[in-house]
Amino acid sequence: MLNPPRSPKAGKPLAWSSIEWVLLDMDGTVLDLSYDNWFWRTLVPARYAAARRLSVSEAEAALSTRFAEVAHTLPWYCTDYWSGITGLDIAALKRESRERIGVLEGAEDFLSAVRDSGRKLWLATNAHRDSWQVKLEQTGLAHYFGEIISSHDFGAPKESQDFWNGFQTRHPFVKERAFFADDSLPVLRGAQGFGIGQIRAIAMPEKGLPRREISEFVAVDRLADLLPIH
Ligand SMILES: [Mg+2]
Repeated sequence: MLNPPRSPKAGKPLAWSSIEWVLLDMDGTVLDLSYDNWFWRTLVPARYAAARRLSVSEAEAALSTRFAEVAHTLPWYCTDYWSGITGLDIAALKRESRERIGVLEGAEDFLSAVRDSGRKLWLATNAHRDSWQVKLEQTGLAHYFGEIISSHDFGAPKESQDFWNGFQTRHPFVKERAFFADDSLPVLRGAQGFGIGQIRAIAMPEKGLPRREISEFVAVDRLADLLPIH
């Protein structure tokens, strides 16, 4: 097909000439979010149910209350927090299930092209070190990134201006000359509020699921849709 269907708000191409820093989210932008959803919605409830002698639906109900309490705050992303809540070794469960971790289609082509263009390529994630380390080890992608920035190092999630201010102080960059991609709308609002020069939402963060309709930000299905770099 000459003209594959695109997101309604695919918009104009990135102005690559004004981008020196490429800042990328990890889960749902570079990596397939289906691993995380399976991990939290299936594996953790199953193990929690077994440990507490609950039915799986009882475990799911108990955990969903706890998830809702901290959504979009730093503990939501913290393996230590969830180990404390569940009594499970969450970091060990991630290592045990690491073979399910996958890369989104075309993401590595994009990483490679950014690196070859000479731009700075940094990962900016809400994932805890226990999580991003095993994911980057498993996928072999760590070598693409000049810096790996975790919101846990700043005590504030990417949704918050405290994260962006702390990040920029520790790793100076010119926000007008930065590009940022993420699949989370609350995170994208944080980046926009901080003044990141160009932003794209990822509309297809999870393999096998249909494209999400996103009207608030210019969206692409996947990072590879931002190629070629010129
Ligand atoms: Mg994400």
